Amino acid sequence: MSTDAKQLVQPPPEHCPGTESETAGKSAACAGCPNQQICSTAPKGPDPDIVEIEQRMKTVKHKILVLSGKGGVGKSTFSSQLSFALAMNQDTQVGLLDIDICGPSIPKIMGLEGEQIHISGQGWDPVYVQDNLAVMSVGFLLEKEEDAVIWRGPKKNGLIKQFLKDVFWSDLDYLIVDTPPGTSDEHLSIVQYLKTSHIDGAVIVTSPQDVALIDVRKEINFCKKVGIPIIGVVENMSGFVCPKCTKESQIFLPTSGGAEQMSKDMNVPFLGKIPIDPLIARSCDEGKSYLITFPESEATKQYKLVFDKILNSVDTKQ
Ligand code: ADP
Repeated sequence: MSTDAKQLVQPPPEHCPGTESETAGKSAACAGCPNQQICSTAPKGPDPDIVEIEQRMKTVKHKILVLSGKGGVGKSTFSSQLSFALAMNQDTQVGLLDIDICGPSIPKIMGLEGEQIHISGQGWDPVYVQDNLAVMSVGFLLEKEEDAVIWRGPKKNGLIKQFLKDVFWSDLDYLIVDTPPGTSDEHLSIVQYLKTSHIDGAVIVTSPQDVALIDVRKEINFCKKVGIPIIGVVENMSGFVCPKCTKESQIFLPTSGGAEQMSKDMNVPFLGKIPIDPLIARSCDEGKSYLITFPESEATKQYKLVFDKILNSVDTKQ
């Protein structure tokens, strides 16, 4: 059975009998579910691609999804700095998978612009920043950086599946998955494709203002619905310390308490706040690790605190 043939329109509800069960779409619990028709007509049985993905993912110890409710809040920046930071330990093998298919910025942020994927007998080879840091992105498949990716659902899902199934990561301690903003088809796909491979959890990145937080609530509810553990929420672009007068100002006002209050309200861990620092944007534009380039900065301090919490959460739950 192809999972693409059974692309659900919404996450399965809690009382779902299982999208692959013989009663899928037919049991009493299915009445009124938006997926009912898809489930009742699709062929039954395990998706052979999911079995292959499970095999491929056996060499990956931890899988962490990075999510955001909105675009532009710093999700890709966070994914890249987390990956760079993990790879500072030479004994840690790190992979960064960019499935932000319509806006892949990871090649630039990781200093890999213009690189292309090679195919070997073992699959698609990721592009290496250094021996222990491998990257895969749809950006590597584009001829020119400014080429637009205008793909419809099934093609996008097909590519995500291929990334999970065919990329030869070798042994990884951590696979960081940078996802598109919001809760879209791509999110459902990745959850569906990785459901038997175990996702350690999701880190949700937001900025402090209310319009961003509204979407984060949706993201949290999505994770709860599909059963992805929430590692925690990070507030990015949280305050700005002027390098001249050292006074802190709030550029994006946390009108109703920001991400910290929202995390409390929704009963999910709050991981910390990363301030605005123009040098973060510059490091990303130059494809460099901010933490290595500016080890003494306030933002580096905050990044480290957040990363430690993520690792503690992942390592203690394994
Ligand atoms: P997203 O992945 O959520 O769309 P990006 O990671 O591409 O967002 O970030 C959007 C822009 O904001 C980029 O130019 C990035 O360099 C910048 N940026 C992200 N976080 C910070 C920060 N803490 N301080 C300053 N600039 C930041």
